[in-house]
Amino acid sequence: MRTVYLDNNATTAVAPDVFEAMRPFYTEHFGNPSSGHHLGDRPASAVRDARARLAAFLGCSDAEIIFTSCGTESDNLAIRGIVDSARDRRHIVTTAVEHSAVMNPIKRLESSGYTVSYIGVNRNGQLDMAAMRDAVTDKTALVSVMFANNETGVMHPIREIAEVARGHGAVLHVDAVQGLGKVPLHMDSLGADLVAISAHKFHGPKGVGALVVRKGTRWAPVFLGGSQERGRRPGTENVAGIVAMAAACDYAQAHLALYQTHVRELRDRFETVLKAAIPDVFVNGEACERLPNTSNMGFTGIDAHALLVLLDEVGICASAGSACHSGAAAPSHVLAAMGLSSEEAASCIRFSLSAMTTDEEIAYCTDQIPRIVHRMRRNFISA
Ligand code: PLP
Repeated sequence: MRTVYLDNNATTAVAPDVFEAMRPFYTEHFGNPSSGHHLGDRPASAVRDARARLAAFLGCSDAEIIFTSCGTESDNLAIRGIVDSARDRRHIVTTAVEHSAVMNPIKRLESSGYTVSYIGVNRNGQLDMAAMRDAVTDKTALVSVMFANNETGVMHPIREIAEVARGHGAVLHVDAVQGLGKVPLHMDSLGADLVAISAHKFHGPKGVGALVVRKGTRWAPVFLGGSQERGRRPGTENVAGIVAMAAACDYAQAHLALYQTHVRELRDRFETVLKAAIPDVFVNGEACERLPNTSNMGFTGIDAHALLVLLDEVGICASAGSACHSGAAAPSHVLAAMGLSSEEAASCIRFSLSAMTTDEEIAYCTDQIPRIVHRMRRNFISA
């Protein structure tokens, strides 16, 4: 059976050059970068080199990069580290549409006495900036907003939010896990104080990420241990993963333009053909700035989980909501925040493309999906 992979917001295939770059660090260069003997030299210089490449890609200094194990860890370290270093401020501002990697640590802080403002979104997924401006005060320790939503691809006005946060001395953390590699992302133009990224979302391996902490930011380390990452994130470095993440940045740089052309065109064609071929289809976040690879579509009256099973049978891989929640019965909190009813939300599927997606794969999907949806609706009516 053929496979068409349209679940790139869940994870991406490791690019061949990325895989080759990491291989020697599992075989001949397996030493610990902290070792004093010669087997530590190559891993140590590889980590230094990877840090410099990642910093150049993001537009920050080497010293501002902290390697971590994933996006979830980066988000947790950012959130905890900010509130721990601002004990006089007990207020947090975030959005109603964050990933659980941000939502859950903030909920934990809320249950331990912090006040949290959850900024809502409109039907298109756009953030209520007036509410954001009202919510941030001189008591706000942290503003935490995702760069782009993992379910809908809707992008948030980070620069504007940075100005609001800065105006009140609050620290801005941006979960950019879904942005990197899909749209240009430069630390200076973003204006954030801390930024979380994860390699497996941009054709690197799973199990490695980074947290960028801008110079002068009020932030305290969370883990205690050795002096790796200058004591800010102790633990023996995932050398192969770090090297691979730098190689994935090269891959991302080389393919960034393709996302604005090829990937966007494929995504738009996918939506246009499906909307023409299937009645009662809607696209969430369609009216605003979205990641060029993401399409979140609702098929009125259809159970998304049942549709996903039938799509899988013909080799099409997609998901309902976030991969971290798939299997959970609860409707997507993102779609609920956008004002969709639970029936509408239960009919939605996220399709996410990559630069590896081909015209032919999209043609296959736009042929298969209408047939399957029509069959489901026919069966439902005759049942
Ligand atoms: N933040 C967002 C927006 C995500 O989409 C994800 C993963 O789906 C994460 C954080 C967590 O990243 P990781 O899987 O590397 O822990």
